[in-house]
Order: sequence, then structure tokens, then C-alpha cells
Amino acid sequence: MADGILFVLSGPSGVGKGTVLDKLLEDYHDVKYSISATTRAPRAGEVDGEDYFFKTTEQFQKIEAENGFIESALVHNNYYGTPKEYVDQTLAKGEDIILEIDIQGARQVRKAYPDAIYIFLVPPSLEELGNRLDRRGSETPESKKIRLGNAQLELKEVHKYDYEILNDELERTVKRLKEIISKEKEARNKRRKQN
Ligand code: 5GP
Repeated sequence: MADGILFVLSGPSGVGKGTVLDKLLEDYHDVKYSISATTRAPRAGEVDGEDYFFKTTEQFQKIEAENGFIESALVHNNYYGTPKEYVDQTLAKGEDIILEIDIQGARQVRKAYPDAIYIFLVPPSLEELGNRLDRRGSETPESKKIRLGNAQLELKEVHKYDYEILNDELERTVKRLKEIISKEKEARNKRRKQN
């Protein structure tokens, strides 16, 4: 069995998971990225097969029925899922891969991949999370309230994760994420040498 490492980056809605990962992958290529499938409509500039695999609900449910996802979740009225084949093939080749998924998804992955490395991105405060949601301009007062309520519950799960990164400053967060990935890779490489 090859031993690629599965990294799972998660955290509350609006904490900046996508931004952090985009920034990391700009110049860091030692970890593969798993492109998720979603039923959400593409935003301006998003490319099918690069940002997401955009699916109809019917297509999504078919993949799900065929056990094609390692996890899937309904996130703010749209389905999201991590395609199983790419993740398993990458790990089987001994290569490392990172997922950027919501907390419900991370809970499911934990059951199937207990050896994965779980990283929780923490907002500086709930107030700042609210400000970020405001800046994104995508929330009504009602949906903002729901997301902040969910975030409060989700923050209680931080102890289940291997690492916690405070996302107060993008460059610093990305540096910390790189350090975690490198540290885990080194530990794995040592184990490989011993075996
Ligand atoms: P967005 O639509 O803004 O790109 O993402 C919305 C939320 O869905 C984010 O919290 C993101 O982390 C989460 N997400 C993206 N892909 C997946 C996935 O494959 N599975 C799960 N569970 N959540 C995902």
C-alpha cells in the first residue's frame, strides 16, 4: 500500500478556505488538489473542470448513487462532493492530495480516512467572519445570521482536528499551511526510509 497523505482543509463558511488554498497552490506544487463536483451554478470566470466539475442535480445524484464520492454535503442549498476515484488513485501512487471542504464533509471523510491530516481554519472572531460575509456581498441579513450561527457550532469541533490555523493574515496563514504540509511529508518520508 503506497502512503500518499490526504490533507483536509476545513472551517466555517466565509473563513477564507478557498482563498488560502488558491494562494498556496499558486507556487506550491508538491500536493495535488482535488476538484470538487457541485450543483451550484458557475460564477463569472469559473471554469468547469478547473474550479469545480459543474453538475446538474440529476448528474450529481447519479454519481452519489454509484458511490463516486468520498463525501458529499448540502452546503447553502447546493450539493458538493469530492470525487473518489482521483483521490484514491493519487494516494495509491504515493502522492499527496488536499481537499477544501466544509465541516460536514470533513466529518464524513474522517470515518473513511482516519489517517488523513485534518486542518481547521479559524476566523479571528465571529465579528470578523460577519464582516467578511458582508464584504462578499452574497448574504441577506437572514442568511448571514444562519451562517454565523452555524459557524459558532462548527468552531466547537476544532478539537477534532490535527491542526488549527488562525486566518488573520493571508500570507501568514499560507506560510503556516505550507509548514504543516512539509512537516507531515518529512515525517512520512522518514517512515518510508525505515520500512
Ligand atoms: P463555494 O460555492 O463558495 O465555492 O463553496 C461553498 C462551500 O462549499 C465552502 O465552504 C467550500 O469549502 C465547500 N465545498 C467545496 N467543495 C466541497 C466538497 O467537495 N465537499 C464539501 N463537503 N464541501 C465543499
